[in-house]
Amino acid sequence: MNSLLNGNLWDTDPELFEIIKKEKQRQRHGLEMIASENFTSVPVLQCLSSCLHNKYSEGMPHQRYYGGNEYIDEIEILAQKRSLEAFRLSGEQWGVNVQPYSGSPANFAVYTGVVEPHGRIMGLDLPDGGHLTHGFFTATKKISATSIFFESMPYKVDPKTGLIDYDKLAETAKLFKPRLIIAGISCYSRCLDYKRFRQIADENGAYLMADMAHVSGLVAAGVIPSPFEYCDIVTTTTHKTLRGPRAGVIFFRKGVRSVNANGTKVMYDFENKINQAVFPGLQGGPHNHAIAAIATTMKQSISPEFIEYQKQVVKNAKRLCEGLMSRGYDIATGGTDVHLVLVDMRNAGLSGARAERILELCSIACNKNTVPGDKSALNPSGIRLGTPALTTRGLKEADIDRVVDFIDKALKLGQEITKISGPKIVDFNKTIEENADINKKVADLRAEVEKYSATFQLPGYETY
Ligand SMILES: *Cc1c(COP(=O)(O)O)cnc(C)c1O
Repeated sequence: MNSLLNGNLWDTDPELFEIIKKEKQRQRHGLEMIASENFTSVPVLQCLSSCLHNKYSEGMPHQRYYGGNEYIDEIEILAQKRSLEAFRLSGEQWGVNVQPYSGSPANFAVYTGVVEPHGRIMGLDLPDGGHLTHGFFTATKKISATSIFFESMPYKVDPKTGLIDYDKLAETAKLFKPRLIIAGISCYSRCLDYKRFRQIADENGAYLMADMAHVSGLVAAGVIPSPFEYCDIVTTTTHKTLRGPRAGVIFFRKGVRSVNANGTKVMYDFENKINQAVFPGLQGGPHNHAIAAIATTMKQSISPEFIEYQKQVVKNAKRLCEGLMSRGYDIATGGTDVHLVLVDMRNAGLSGARAERILELCSIACNKNTVPGDKSALNPSGIRLGTPALTTRGLKEADIDRVVDFIDKALKLGQEITKISGPKIVDFNKTIEENADINKKVADLRAEVEKYSATFQLPGYETY
């Protein structure tokens, strides 16, 4: 036996394995509330560590640049078929590409395929809840490659209500004449009005793409409205609410687009453009282990257990929202329809950074986020909290009440620390380190959270 080849990681590389074990412990003992994260299933992990990882298969099924792909073809075709089924799509009207390495490459492949270089794209602004890949740039720098290789123009939320300002989008789109409008969010707690997006796209001859990366699990389960009725193209990640592998998927319309006055059929032409943008345009060999994991994720997504899970994700988010509001916290848009809550900390006397930090020290993971009306994107005033990961661990509404209690305690502790430290995050951290009384309070709360968290199941392997 060659131990490099057949040994277990814990024997061949104990140094690395120890670190992985610590990460597993962190996951077990913390409350994971980052809205984009989840704990995937054992079947997905088994696909990811399977022999499929070894195979090169550039090209599409039955049109590969390498030999030996008969089973790889079967797997990719299965992943495609199940992806369509998961979202109740007919193979006549929709095609799908399951090769994108992740959500960002999936989006870039769409732009590359259907928007010409420096063509115009509109997406929700990053500080308003959009995603970097929708074209983020600042006054001094083009941040996302979407804004470097295409011309992007953001649309915004109304700073008072926190809701997407569709009227303003319609007005701006009329001037900017985008080729593509993106309906998609990373931090927005309300359902999108895809019908309105479609109207605006049609008024300007633009394509409409939904990026449902965050909400695809909810869409698959039918818990929120589906973008497919109104969109030309839909992209998603598969590792967020969908709870699959880290990967991306692109759905595109095919078949008849419209019929001319003289009766000629006009066909959609996305299929070749998008498939060729993915490969050979942007990517090389598909990640076949991830594609298999997508296949099994899509199978899971139509099961009653999965649908129940997604319903619980939303129930838990609503309960979280109510709990925080009842304790006096402001919530952007005043509520949630989905899996996340955006807490506006401006009236709570804590910046987003300090709130994130104190929660992290208490083993509650979330992220700071801009809130509608924020003056500075560098010093955001809110935190984004999500329920997908906790719900996977089995938490129900009553458990969420307990979580609200922990969050409230931690944030109050943050306020107490701020009174001593002043508003700077360095002083804030220093006070926690150096003030023995504060240090103990943080350690006590952390211990309480960790003890509680460890009582819930965690899918995956026992120690890693
Ligand atoms: C997470 C996300 C992406 C990017 O996905 P990655 O897998 O991180 O590249 C794209 N769009 C939206 C809306 C997202 O939330």
